[in-house]
Amino acid sequence: MVAPARNTEPPLIELCDIRRSYGGADGAPAVEVLRGLSLKIHAGEFVALVGASGSGKSTLMHILGCLDRPSSGRYLFAGRDIARFTADELAWLRRAAFGFVFQGYHLIRTIDALHNVEVPAVYAGITQAKRESRAELLLSRLGLGDRLAHRPHQLSGGQQQRVSIARALMNGGHIILADEPTGALDSRSGAEVMALLRELAQAGHTVILITHDRDVASQAQRIVEIRDGQIIADTPSDPSAEPQSRTQAANELLSARNFPALMARGVAHAATPVADMLEAVRAAWEVMWVNRFRTMLTLLGIVIGVASVIVMLAIGAGTQETVIAKLATFGVNRMYVIPGGDNERGPGGTLSEADVDIVASVPNVTVAMPFVQGKVTLRAGSVDTSAPLWAVTTDAPKVLSWKPSRGVFFTKEDERNLATVVLLGKRVSERLFGAKNPLGQYVLVNNVPFQVIGELEEKGATSGESDDDDVIMVPFSTGSRRVLGTTNLSWISVLVDNLDIVNETARLITTPLAQAHHIQDFKVYNRAASVKAQEDTQQTLTMMLGLIAAISLVVGGIGVMNIMLMTVKERTREIGIRMATGARERDILRQFLTEAILVSLVGGVAGVVIGLCLGAALIFWDVAIIFSVRAILGAFACALATGLIFGFMPARQAARLDPVVALASE
Ligand code: ADP
Ligand code: MG
Repeated sequence: MVAPARNTEPPLIELCDIRRSYGGADGAPAVEVLRGLSLKIHAGEFVALVGASGSGKSTLMHILGCLDRPSSGRYLFAGRDIARFTADELAWLRRAAFGFVFQGYHLIRTIDALHNVEVPAVYAGITQAKRESRAELLLSRLGLGDRLAHRPHQLSGGQQQRVSIARALMNGGHIILADEPTGALDSRSGAEVMALLRELAQAGHTVILITHDRDVASQAQRIVEIRDGQIIADTPSDPSAEPQSRTQAANELLSARNFPALMARGVAHAATPVADMLEAVRAAWEVMWVNRFRTMLTLLGIVIGVASVIVMLAIGAGTQETVIAKLATFGVNRMYVIPGGDNERGPGGTLSEADVDIVASVPNVTVAMPFVQGKVTLRAGSVDTSAPLWAVTTDAPKVLSWKPSRGVFFTKEDERNLATVVLLGKRVSERLFGAKNPLGQYVLVNNVPFQVIGELEEKGATSGESDDDDVIMVPFSTGSRRVLGTTNLSWISVLVDNLDIVNETARLITTPLAQAHHIQDFKVYNRAASVKAQEDTQQTLTMMLGLIAAISLVVGGIGVMNIMLMTVKERTREIGIRMATGARERDILRQFLTEAILVSLVGGVAGVVIGLCLGAALIFWDVAIIFSVRAILGAFACALATGLIFGFMPARQAARLDPVVALASE
């Protein structure tokens, strides 16, 4: 303790002609609350500002504590004009020099007594272990050693006020600003709080007490009387009292030499970014945990949205795949080269076996099969009939997706030898042999005897007049040369590999064929293209499902928004409290950004997991499911964006308010 030398140094606080008015912006007359107020307060003084309700005391205190700025006039702190301080420097001043005690306590609802007391030290960058032990010490000294883990609503008014005094002292609290500290307390708690303030004043703290109660004010060493925003009296209550001593730290703060260095160090503050980040994550987790129910509701919106996007799109992709697979069995990957050009009056073109080789050499073509068909007469025993004959190669089972149900297909050997072997369609077999097994029997095809080596499986499908099962199949060589006597192909059947480039493949077939023929006297019928149209329809369906999912994501987002908006007011007040205890704008932003990211991360991950589980469950129900990584990432990104927009943006706005405005929000 050092005795002050009042005449040789600037006062701790000097107000010159301070004015503060409200309103006047939207045409309404401005109300001047502080009307040219000048005041000097020296370090170590115990001053009471007394006046009737509405006289402007709280307004004055907010200006004194750098929570608010005057409309005009100068405020010198230790001889320095605070109008020149940056926002970060003001934040430092609030946490390093001031300690606030409010009538309404202004404790943070969501955290316990210990953590409330720690808040100013967090922003001063003190390590967790250090600040915890100090907070504990302060609380025990104020008789709250057994209430550390209680949240504000679990404490009485007097206890809450003591917590807020402990908080004011956390960073030293050289200047205690107490606004009606006993206003909400019963007389006994009030007396306790006043005793505490007197003790602090004796210990060297500068105490500025605001009250409307003259009895309370009389306990101070000096009484300043305010009426209608002006000072009408300034009297020491006890002229004979000793000048107050003051703390070493207050001395340091006041020394002109130390102040700039002290401020620069304080503004930069000591904690590492990693420690800051860990602190933010820990605090965010705590808030989520304390508000479990609300957090769950918020999460629910995100989870439902994300999960439904994942499941819906997986179902869409799954059905699409199934449909395509089904279409493939109907010959998606098939093309036909048909003789005859576009010009109907021109010469009808012909296709030969040489053309088959040209087509087969085109990339992406896996099989090119010549095909000749013609009507033939059939005879077996006493039965006469006729049927279309298909002269095909050994590729036919693959190209036509048609296998024998009895017997075997012919071989390359049969092909080379012009073997007289035949496979019968079901209808033909029935007509010639009834229910008898036709294998090994002989049939006269245009009067040439053929041995039956197989019966084709029943297709069942009929197209118009013709019946698919009413055909016979013979080797190409035998059919074209021996039976039909022509090598002019009816068409060439083509199988392609990659469906995505069928149009390109069709072009690659057309060009060399047209060159060989010197004229384009054929057409490439591209079945894949028509299938593509069907695929597009399916795509539309998938998009519809995606749209439904997106809507549920939006609805989930609106749910999140509602809950977030509901809490914004409450959080705004918390932001005010944090700023009053010395948080910089970026401290607030870091905290709320962390919270928003944490909520959306947890929600997003839960959504993805639930979506995957639902999908897996649907697979058991035989629903075709294909998960899309893009859908999962997209939904996750949406969840993150929702959290940021509705959780972080309002907080960012609140962080830009003056502390006093944020504090006033209810
Ligand atoms: P006290 O603390 O002495 O009771 P205040 O400083 O709270 O008085 O308020 C003084 C006057 O300023 C009151 O008439 C009040 O209506 C007005 N006032 C305070 N804050 C605002 C504000 N944010 N906007 C408009 N008027 C205000
Ligand atoms: Mg007031």
